Amino acid sequence: MKISTVRLNNGVDMPQVGYGVFRVEDGADLEQAVVTAICEGYRSIDTAAIYGNEQSVGRGIAKAIEDGLVTREELFVTSKVWNAHGSYEETLAAYAESLEKMQLEYLDLYLIHWPGKAKYQAPWKALEELVQTDKLRAIGVSNFQIHHLEDLLQHASIIPVVNQIELHPKLTQSELRQFCSEHGIQIEAWSPLMNAELLENEVVQELATQYKKSAAQIILRWDIQQGIITIPKSMTPSRMQENLRITDFEILPEDMERLNQLNENLRSGPDPDTFDF
Ligand code: NDP
Repeated sequence: MKISTVRLNNGVDMPQVGYGVFRVEDGADLEQAVVTAICEGYRSIDTAAIYGNEQSVGRGIAKAIEDGLVTREELFVTSKVWNAHGSYEETLAAYAESLEKMQLEYLDLYLIHWPGKAKYQAPWKALEELVQTDKLRAIGVSNFQIHHLEDLLQHASIIPVVNQIELHPKLTQSELRQFCSEHGIQIEAWSPLMNAELLENEVVQELATQYKKSAAQIILRWDIQQGIITIPKSMTPSRMQENLRITDFEILPEDMERLNQLNENLRSGPDPDTFDF
């Protein structure tokens, strides 16, 4: 399955659908899941230092390359620096550790995982330095609200390519999306299925029947139809495959609107403004 890409503000192309690995333990199952995902057609993988599974992600990537499924250049690998690394030096060290764990020469995208209490200026300087080297292709942020971005941009010399945020039909984030669009920052949706909670939603189910697709496919199609990058997680091969098969249909404007109308500004994860780290 060929996945379309989005051109980021620094000219790097990023696949519009990626494979997320949050809440998956480091180990052989994840290593195999990464190989399966690549085999199914995923080219983008999203992990983070705090997930504690970078080693298995790296091993899965190495195995897929060894098996001739893909080349490193065809993959788009993302990781994230955790908030505890609040200084410039700690951020550089955290990046080196992520590369070491994944046994990779470079990452395609490195994100500041959470804004914390204005802890991001020094890490951002470190990311700006890293992206000038051949060890990193693009830098971005995650869970940044408009005021975090305004503050960051005042001091930044590089604009983040991506803001990875919780986004699904119950949390449509329209103001933040508008702000990011005005600044050339690509939106990437985490927990696009609201960690599976949205799959039983009545409207989503109704549209699934109407379009003869699964509930997950309806939501993921809603993402890509709006130019949003999405990174569903699944450890189930048939679902991994299903989540990629979203390019052969189009949701009508009135049905997109029905999905938009589900918005309740409802988060399944923490609120970046009240999160205590
Ligand atoms: P998702 O919204 O992707 O939902 C994952 C859940 O949905 C799993 O239980 C999975 O089950 C199930 N599922 C997936 N596809 C299907 C399907 N087709 N049919 C039925 N069930 C399905 O949740 P996540 O929270 O994992 O978010 C995705 C990714 O976003 C993460 O893995 C991570 O990479 C990123 N993320 C980033 C955060 C950040 O702060 N930046 C925070 C949270 C997530 P199963 O695995 O059993 O198939």
